Amino acid sequence: RLYNEVQDLKGNIRVYCRIRPFLPGQSKKRTTVEYIGENGELVISNPSKQGKDSHRLFKFNKVFGPAATQEEVFLDTQPLIRSVLDGYNVCIFAYGQTGSGKTFTMSGPNITSKEDWGVNYRALNDLFQISQRRKSSISYEVGVQMVEIYNEQVRDLLSSDGPHKRYPSSNLDFSVVTFVSLNLHTLGIWSTTQPNGLAVPDASMHVVTSTTDVLELMNIGLMNRAVGATVLNERSSRSHSVLTVHVHGMDLKTSAVLRGNLHLVDLAGSERVDRSEVIGERLREAQHINKSLSALGDVIFSLSQKSQHVPFRNSKLTQVLQSSLGGQAKTLMFVQLNPDVDSYSETISTLKFAERVS
Ligand code: ADP
Ligand code: MG
Repeated sequence: RLYNEVQDLKGNIRVYCRIRPFLPGQSKKRTTVEYIGENGELVISNPSKQGKDSHRLFKFNKVFGPAATQEEVFLDTQPLIRSVLDGYNVCIFAYGQTGSGKTFTMSGPNITSKEDWGVNYRALNDLFQISQRRKSSISYEVGVQMVEIYNEQVRDLLSSDGPHKRYPSSNLDFSVVTFVSLNLHTLGIWSTTQPNGLAVPDASMHVVTSTTDVLELMNIGLMNRAVGATVLNERSSRSHSVLTVHVHGMDLKTSAVLRGNLHLVDLAGSERVDRSEVIGERLREAQHINKSLSALGDVIFSLSQKSQHVPFRNSKLTQVLQSSLGGQAKTLMFVQLNPDVDSYSETISTLKFAERVS
């Protein structure tokens, strides 16, 4: 194995905390972040309390402060991502209230600028680079799926009959890509029954050969995600988006095959909704989000406790992620925080979720 450090992770679950900066125009706000330590310590202060009780200490594998760059965050994620090429299953997700920087960390604010790229674009880019470097000994195929989970329903964001099939400025013919992936399906390369090649059932798989392919597919996915939503942000904060990367490698000498997959998840906003204030559709959404996030928490908690029974079947989210949670799989959670004092109680509830699973 090339990346031994990956195997040293305690229980294969690691938790990084990332605090976003105040945004322009927010400069007069007060922060709850009191101290960030070199070794993953974070002290949060309660603006309405004085003395000893006003501070709480949390501990993570790593804390990224407001000045951390996308590049820095990625460098600490890279070993985990590369282990996918060695046949590991990896799940990386971002948890936090709406506006805390989940999408910033996973996708970035602006995909046209490489510097802004979040974990998912950098991850794919890196996988292609490494597979290129190894191509004289291992032949890799990479396939991606992208789904949205909304109200416990899985929607394929890259479906060939989705509203957006083709990125306007692109020369990639989406229908051709789909056709290729169907062929691979019949060849059994992306088997849904292999323990390590578990695909999201009923979601289309697309073979990608370059970062450009990935950018185009993800743009299609993002556009399909926006359909039916009054405001893009509104809908995206109430659904989980899951990008699954399947890697199939064949050793050219021995013909031995290895499979790994990577789930990159931008979770729905974790904020608690006041039940007395929402009704109808909003209440239903809130209940579904609540249910799936607590199911995720329960799964990771029981994995961290090494318990015999892991309750994967309690939500669509945990079912979709099952292959990359537990067993030999490696999990990384980004705990996202908004430093604003107004977010104090959501910050504490986010940190409590993290504390339980780490
Ligand atoms: P979420 O997906 O959790 O709702 P976003 O990723 O959309 O949150 O972030 C909310 C806002 O904060 C966006 O305008 C985003 O560009 C900005 N933001 C988040 N994290 C950072 C960061 N680390 N550096 C600069 N801006 C950030
Ligand atoms: Mg978001």
